[in-house]
Amino acid sequence: MRDLPAETTDGTRIDLLGNIEFPYEVEQCRLRGASGIGLYRTEFLYLGCDDDPTEESHYEAYALVVQAMGEKPVIMRTLDLGADKMRSLPDPEDERNPFLGLRSIRLALRNRDLFRIQLRAMLRASVLGDLRIMFPMVSTIMEFRQAKMVLADAMEDLEEAGVAFNRELKVGMMVEVPSAVMMMDRFVEEVDFFSIGTNDLIQYCLAVDRSNKDVANLYTAADPAVIRMIEMAVRAANESQVPISMCGQMSGNPMYTMLLLGMGLRCLSATPAAIPEVKRVCRSVSIEHCESIAKRVSSLEDARQIKTFLKEELSKVFPEFPL
Ligand code: PEP
Ligand code: MG
Repeated sequence: MRDLPAETTDGTRIDLLGNIEFPYEVEQCRLRGASGIGLYRTEFLYLGCDDDPTEESHYEAYALVVQAMGEKPVIMRTLDLGADKMRSLPDPEDERNPFLGLRSIRLALRNRDLFRIQLRAMLRASVLGDLRIMFPMVSTIMEFRQAKMVLADAMEDLEEAGVAFNRELKVGMMVEVPSAVMMMDRFVEEVDFFSIGTNDLIQYCLAVDRSNKDVANLYTAADPAVIRMIEMAVRAANESQVPISMCGQMSGNPMYTMLLLGMGLRCLSATPAAIPEVKRVCRSVSIEHCESIAKRVSSLEDARQIKTFLKEELSKVFPEFPL
């Protein structure tokens, strides 16, 4: 499968990219023919070390990945942490709802010096390939603008120091909070690309903590409300011709591949191990068929019916897939 294109039977090209957490995983993506890195989670730099990483250690990790991918795109996500993971910051208030608290881009915007260090390292690595920057958990337009302002400051720093960077680098955001979906028509004016993070979007859409076992049965990508939300985001981005992909776990599950293509997605990023199976589904179906599947799903009213239907459809094109 590696060298075959992810192309549907009617010749529509799908981009399949890899999600990574550590630089060495780049090799897994290359071995499976990923057309780029759709999500580089950079949190690993902060975990398991006593001090916050220096600009140099950020840079080394980023340079490695961008160089290994050659001309293929590498989407780097900026810090997506809670304050408990960062040594130099005061302990967070005892948060009663940490998933609704000071995490991710909010934390970065409160700690701009630290954020700027990471952005400077990304900018420096941007001359080595096709590096793109993505902000996580954006929930308002102002947040996105503020993050871009910090990026502009970092650019100014580098310019003054005579350090090279790619001025045209693309800047996008994750769509993982329902407020971002509701405001897509405004975000399309400001961003270069979107990536839907279903892991968080599901929990915020359904009010179900993704890590709470007691409510795990309610946490599902097959919920019709989640599917509608994804559909809204994809439609708004496609109408404005702003590239949109998906990088949550849903995009690596072959059960959803036909539905996602039918809703208009043409770019999926998944854990490298899932790429061959998703590619196999892409190569077995036509977009017209996928659209009919999406239409049928939109007429169903609960997650159980939707899952049963999608499993049946998957078994027709991929009978060996263990469901
Ligand atoms: C997501 O929320 O879908 C996502 C990709 O981000 P993470 O799983 O790292 O929160
Ligand atoms: Mg997320």
